[in-house]
Amino acid sequence: MPADSPTISFELYPPRTPKGERELPGTVAALAAVDPDFFSVTYGASGRTRESSGALLEHILTRTDVPAIAHLTCVGASEGDLDGVVRRLLDIGVRDVLALRGDPPEGEPDWRPHPQGYTTASELVQLLRRVEAQRFGTPDGDGPRPLSIAVAAYPGGTFDADGVPVVDPTTVQALLAKQEAGADYAITQVFYDPASYAAFVAAARAAGVHLPIVPGIIPLTDPRRLRRLETLTGVPVPPALLAALDEAPTPEERYRRGLTASVDLVHGVLAAGAPGLHVYTFNTAGPALDVLAEAGLRPVPADTR
Ligand code: FAD
Repeated sequence: MPADSPTISFELYPPRTPKGERELPGTVAALAAVDPDFFSVTYGASGRTRESSGALLEHILTRTDVPAIAHLTCVGASEGDLDGVVRRLLDIGVRDVLALRGDPPEGEPDWRPHPQGYTTASELVQLLRRVEAQRFGTPDGDGPRPLSIAVAAYPGGTFDADGVPVVDPTTVQALLAKQEAGADYAITQVFYDPASYAAFVAAARAAGVHLPIVPGIIPLTDPRRLRRLETLTGVPVPPALLAALDEAPTPEERYRRGLTASVDLVHGVLAAGAPGLHVYTFNTAGPALDVLAEAGLRPVPADTR
């Protein structure tokens, strides 16, 4: 999916409350107005959001001109279940999938595959390629394939005693396996330092990964959200960033500091050669659009907040 110039894309999740449901069409419209390359729609653990993710995908595909990527996980699903889900996604016009293993359901410490299911995202990538071949036939030559498949990548966020980013070699091996299974590009987990991204990409290239690796960018404007994300992802938030946000004298100043940090991150990853930016919006257009505007990448349409 990444093109010649840096792509801009936005992650959305299916609404979790009636208020979220009411507000989401406005958010989608505001984000679509800056002409992104794609939206991606998350998929809840155990397929919990299968229906609501599908509804949001359909909304994007029918109400905007923007392609929509369906996240899909292997959690709690047999191979047959996944085959059915993929075919239904194709039926509603989805041609872009982010293939994930998924996290264990809440309360379960270890990830356990469904007895007739998959252990890694690579197997899901292989299934997607098999269904693609059955539905669309085998492609001629090196032209674009009917289905574009993204996978996850993990730059991490720790540093050694000399301040050098630590790259987990198993995540690089996992990405290589996903490439060999037929993935087209990768989108990263949250990270906070462009050096983490650059080190991960360098390690991936050294291991033979040639996939474009699109950095996932979080607007760094909300310290509560960053703390929650640290718990969820295990990626440590730099204490200096949290202190700067916590100690801001006003909410406006906190927001301004968060925007400045986000723009530094965006400029840092683009300088490191990032092929695009995938912005985690948390279903709110304002911070995502402000980051892009401040970074000089997109204008801010009026009334996005
Ligand atoms: P895999 O790549 O299969 O890796 C799983 C584990 O196996 C890892 O520990 C990996 O290191 C190891 N592994 C796999 N292959 C190899 C190999 N060949 N050699 C050595 N080790 C290997 N979760 C959701 O539930 N819903 C979502 O919508 C969602 N969206 C996400 C979007 C992005 C951009 C990202 C980065 C993550 C998202 N997640 C989502 C979270 C994701 O499901 C979890 O991080 C999950 O724990 C791992 O998924 P994966 O696809 O990276 O798994």
